[in-house]
Amino acid sequence: MRSRRQTLRRLLVFAFFLALPVTLNYYSPYLMTQGTAERIATFSLAFWLAVFATSLVCGRAFCGWACPFNGLQQAAETVGYRPLRRVRFLPVVKYALWTAWAGAVVGVAISVGGWRGFDPLYMTEYGVSVSEAGNLVTYFALVGFTLAPLGLGRRGFCRNLCPFGVWGIVGEKLGHLARIPRLKLNADSGACSSCGTCTRNCPMQLDVESMVARGDMRETECFMCLTCADICPKKAIRVGFGRG
Ligand code: SF4
Ligand code: SF4
Repeated sequence: MRSRRQTLRRLLVFAFFLALPVTLNYYSPYLMTQGTAERIATFSLAFWLAVFATSLVCGRAFCGWACPFNGLQQAAETVGYRPLRRVRFLPVVKYALWTAWAGAVVGVAISVGGWRGFDPLYMTEYGVSVSEAGNLVTYFALVGFTLAPLGLGRRGFCRNLCPFGVWGIVGEKLGHLARIPRLKLNADSGACSSCGTCTRNCPMQLDVESMVARGDMRETECFMCLTCADICPKKAIRVGFGRG
């Protein structure tokens, strides 16, 4: 049976997906870059910097608990999914997209001399992102871009194409290097009965059982959903806070 924590998490990411027609602009890399060109800091700029800052302490928890595109994939996977097929070098795409995005914003900011003001509703009429027919094209293109990689298997978008998650990956790695106390998973390999329940239920398709066996739960693709900790019948995985 699903824990209350996991029920809450699943409801949260689905709610963030349902809100996407309103909130789309607040995540937008395009508006972040366009605003910067006009020396305006947009909500999306502040938002992604905040996600990056929290990832120093919470790792990729944004992806696991608040990402609308996680909510969309989760909804699609309730109909059915296949195991993730790994395609060599394809995951490089998300790092390339993120590098182009972050590089463009930094480059434009330097060339125009930085930001002069903050407009959270930049190019967003009445605070609603999809406010006219043209915006629907962007919305459905993004939905399609998120769902298409599910043809490769579970969380095909997160694993291969999503540049948003890279903010969390970079933040988690910097937090680790700087030895900042952080949210983490701890494994008790002695308590593990090798039942494989954690691996079968990890939405990111990680070999959690092997991570437990080697006593190292740090994994780039772990988005701290805590499913494994909640579902382990032996309580061999616990959530903690600390360095390392
Ligand atoms: S669910 Fe728990 S007991 Fe089963 S393999 Fe994973 S860590 Fe070990
Ligand atoms: S390893 Fe655990 S916390 Fe990380 S994504 Fe998989 S189930 Fe979630």
